Amino acid sequence: MRQTRLLIPTLREVPAEAEVVSHKLLLRAGMIRQVARGIYDFLPLGVRVLRKVERIIREEMQRAGAQEVLLPAICPAELWQESGRWERYGKELLRMKDRNDREFCFGPTHEEVVTDLVRRDVRSYRDLPLNLFQIQVKFRDEVRPRFGLMRGREFIMKDGYSFHVDRVECDREYDNMYAAYRRIFERCGLRFRPVEADTGAIGGSRSHEFQVLADSGEDAIVSCDRCEYAANVEKAAIGDAASAATAGAGGASCSASSATALRTVATPGQRTVEEVSAFLAVPAERFVKSLVYVVDGGGPVLAMVRGDHVLSEAKLKDALGAQAVALASEDVVARVTGAPVGFAGPIGLPSGVRRVGDRALAGLVDGVAGANAADQHLVGVAHARDLADVELADLRVAGEGDACPRCDGRFVLQRGIEVGQVFHLGTKYSAAMHATVLDADGAERLLEMGCYGIGVTRTIAAAIEQNHDDAGIIWPMPLAPFHVVIVPVNCNDERLRTTAERLHDELEARGIDVLLDDRDERPGVKFKDADLIGHPLRITVGPRALERGAVELKRRTEASADEVPVEAAAARVAALVAEGLGAPPA
Ligand code: ATP
Ligand code: MG
Repeated sequence: MRQTRLLIPTLREVPAEAEVVSHKLLLRAGMIRQVARGIYDFLPLGVRVLRKVERIIREEMQRAGAQEVLLPAICPAELWQESGRWERYGKELLRMKDRNDREFCFGPTHEEVVTDLVRRDVRSYRDLPLNLFQIQVKFRDEVRPRFGLMRGREFIMKDGYSFHVDRVECDREYDNMYAAYRRIFERCGLRFRPVEADTGAIGGSRSHEFQVLADSGEDAIVSCDRCEYAANVEKAAIGDAASAATAGAGGASCSASSATALRTVATPGQRTVEEVSAFLAVPAERFVKSLVYVVDGGGPVLAMVRGDHVLSEAKLKDALGAQAVALASEDVVARVTGAPVGFAGPIGLPSGVRRVGDRALAGLVDGVAGANAADQHLVGVAHARDLADVELADLRVAGEGDACPRCDGRFVLQRGIEVGQVFHLGTKYSAAMHATVLDADGAERLLEMGCYGIGVTRTIAAAIEQNHDDAGIIWPMPLAPFHVVIVPVNCNDERLRTTAERLHDELEARGIDVLLDDRDERPGVKFKDADLIGHPLRITVGPRALERGAVELKRRTEASADEVPVEAAAARVAALVAEGLGAPPA
């Protein structure tokens, strides 16, 4: 391909609208342009990358036995009403009416549509298992679309859904998809980790996220330094609370008898742990941080963690066996605790308010808690004496150094970008939508379902967040729009131009994605653009080397180039491309 024939409007300046590296570089490299908030054009180079990601996904999904379908982007409200999500999904769901005033939405995900398809056309267990996937444009009216392709409103997703006669078969498919996802992200050339995840609003009982490791990632994950265990910090089970994970808990080993007496102190206007900690000169780890939650829209619960810890709502939800938990409003807090927000505590609450605390509170002595009265806190709080009847559970967000639940290793904290997620859905949708099959005994059974998503466009952004330098993108070979760029330093020099063209044709004949920078530009400009766009390999055709019958071959990751005889250049490039693409899957 010739660069003069492609629309590649590179930019020297960093666009003001972009905050993160991938967004800046995608704009600067001329791959995308913003049309509206969270809505983008893909230009030719962007489309080439997109197609490569899609192709890897498609091949691996098909290899894993899934079948490609294409469901509508515009979905009738009736299906969403059946599942109950028309009401529950909130403002992220883009709703619209047709000319006859019938309601529709632009699909943000397709559980309803696919379940409807399967319930109409699949009758017997003999038609199962079934795994249907599509690669399609989704729309989610995100509150804060940002970071370019990372969190758009319109974006491309691979979504897949599997249907089974029982849980065993469904679990088998989950493992199959998990393995397929590993292959997909390996083939993309990305460093990633599958981590245990919360099932969130989609519901279900088992889930992993695939996280591309990058310091700029929105998600925090922990992985064990000894074993394979890894999880989202919201979800990561923390091992034995008595171990060093709680070191720093003020005197965790002291006995209750050494505790000081409980007394009330005035803390006028001091509400947060930070404020009260500074005011009383007591470190945050001796605080009982108390938060009032409403559970499944119903009764209040007082949830507690140590002052230096963060409550995980995902864990709270699991500990209570609830569908949903939400922080209580100021009114509810005032009603439950008899005090304004900032003074809630576990002691002296009306009976009937369930109290549940994080395990790291065990052994607390001489602690501080809200007194359930305005401008007052309690000091001298001892777990053994004052909180012995509080339920304890693993409630806090995991962090660096916490104990692994599987072995005696410790957690290492990393940041990641969620590029995919697999879920066991169970019968959540089949039950709501009456999707059944007849089993081998002729009995009617609800379909067991799994669902499997990959953010196709987000994967592109994640690849850049993980692979770039000051000069631009450094594409992993499998995702690069072109494997190699050929730069004749002067296109008006006949010999340079014909050598470059010959090499281009030879590489193209070998199936290499090659770009010939045939623009009438200074070499410096071409080199800058090549680095910005991030071609993994660059061949420079210049007069001096050509005198010796050679061209220069440089990898994007290296500062210096090698001289390669012209006749050997194509074979050398082909070998490097093959190496970069990795072994073809078995
Ligand atoms: P997030 O927590 O980041 O909002 P999610 O968990 O809601 O994402 P899923 O419903 O699991 O997303 O969707 C499957 C995949 O689609 C995600 O793993 C992610 O890679 C991608 N994705 C989700 N929302 C967006 C978005 N707004 N822009 C780009 N990709 C997205
Ligand atoms: Mg997700």
